[in-house]
Amino acid sequence: MNEFDLVILGGGSGGYACALRSAQLGLSVVLIEKDKVGGTCLHRGCIPTKALLHAGEVADSARHASDFGVNAEFISIDMLGVNAYKDGVISKLYKGLQGLVKSRNITVVEGHGRLVSKNQVEVNGTVYTGKNVVLATGSYPKTLPGLEIDGTQIVTSNEAMSFDYVPKSVIVLGGGVIGCEFASVWNSFGADVTIIEGLPRLVALEDESSSKQLERAFRKRGIKFETGVKFASATKGPNGVTVTLENGATFTADVLLVAVGRGPVSAGLGYEEQGIAMDRGYVLVDNKCRTNVPGIWAVGDLIPTLQLAHVGFGEGILVAEEIAGLNPRPINYDGVPRVTYSEPEVASVGLTTAAAKERGYDVVELSYDLAGNGKANILKTSGSIKLVAQKDGPVLGVHMVGARVGELLAEAQLIYNWEATADDVAPLIHAHPTLSEAMGEAHLALAGKPLHAHG
Ligand SMILES: Cc1cc2nc3c(=O)[nH]c(=O)nc-3n(C[C@H](O)[C@H](O)[C@H](O)COP(=O)(O)OP(=O)(O)OC[C@H]3O[C@@H](n4cnc5c(N)ncnc54)[C@H](O)[C@@H]3O)c2cc1C
Repeated sequence: MNEFDLVILGGGSGGYACALRSAQLGLSVVLIEKDKVGGTCLHRGCIPTKALLHAGEVADSARHASDFGVNAEFISIDMLGVNAYKDGVISKLYKGLQGLVKSRNITVVEGHGRLVSKNQVEVNGTVYTGKNVVLATGSYPKTLPGLEIDGTQIVTSNEAMSFDYVPKSVIVLGGGVIGCEFASVWNSFGADVTIIEGLPRLVALEDESSSKQLERAFRKRGIKFETGVKFASATKGPNGVTVTLENGATFTADVLLVAVGRGPVSAGLGYEEQGIAMDRGYVLVDNKCRTNVPGIWAVGDLIPTLQLAHVGFGEGILVAEEIAGLNPRPINYDGVPRVTYSEPEVASVGLTTAAAKERGYDVVELSYDLAGNGKANILKTSGSIKLVAQKDGPVLGVHMVGARVGELLAEAQLIYNWEATADDVAPLIHAHPTLSEAMGEAHLALAGKPLHAHG
């Protein structure tokens, strides 16, 4: 009775996407989830942070209303109101997802699951047997040795998501995507924010030019940051949390947000016992998300690929289609779009200049400044679209900074993934006045026929 084509452990982005696609393909599925279907992304990640960022944008609009000739005033942030708005978005999406899962006849089991054999997961004494088992147990926020999370003064994104007040001051440990997004939110909400990053620049996985522009914009907004210097210790005292860096510098703030990366949830779940190959807690897979144990698959943040919800969706779908015999194409991870949703946004797809050179390409670069774009001027945003291309060949990477540039990735990813050249894109007419025109202009310039570009 408890036998299925797929037993899926973990109902986050990776697990539920795999369940939905498998069911669509006529396979029987049980989805085991100890908390809430939707996982990190819906309940503690993508969706709540983007709601907070939008509330921040509204606050900034009020603050800067007079720049647009509008009489309005920023008075304060009502965190209860912000949380009600944010939680409303989550609960609507959660209801929708639950309905979707139900409508596809997926069996959902609530409880903590553990792999007890190569094709069985046990939940509260009941064993579920699958022709295939898909591991999708996700990730957790990491901390550093000696840095204890207390949930109030020293927090991770899990707690920071639901603060019922705006701290006066915050230290953000980690200048990656999550750290920069929270820094942006809290600055918009009126907090004094300092980011500490051990690597030489913020959003260090992005092209160097994007980091520079984000740093310039953050500086302008009053977000302080220290880069290239390592954390040494944190102590709690009457004035808040004091962070000491290895160079001896100290910083004190009401709250310390630890945003130093996320680790895989795999300890104690029986994975090693079944002989699954692992590395530092990550489950290792091939390009079809197969582990070394036949019939066991793994997707999402649990495997060492990009920790993004849409990557989890893609991997879940890939596994479902592979099991159903559709022989899907492996994922090209370079072609996955990436966004940091701070103000300004940082968005990219494809290779950075450094990565393209490392791979031996003869690289040409073109940077189109948003100052030449009508809509960017209307929005009063600045930034650029940078193209990395192979000399006389396809576009290898698109790197953007500016308000709303994340929305331009849809086109950028087609350009990259379809291996378009500047000459392919240049003749395409973009609507005026939109930010997307900057994409057209960048390709016109790269094709040697710049229109609204100086120099
Ligand atoms: C603050 C923050 C912001 C983010 N913003 C973005 C963004 O804007 N865009 C983006 O693409 N990505 C974003 N991410 C990343 C995204 O949330 C993850 O990449 C995605 O959720 C990974 O999906 P997953 O299915 O692998 O894991 P998860 O979503 O973590 O799901 C795993 C699920 O497994 C369950 N589980 C674990 N162990 C067991 C067990 N033993 N038994 C039963 N159930 C179990 C968990 O309860 C959980 O629901 C963000 C993450 C954070 C933390």
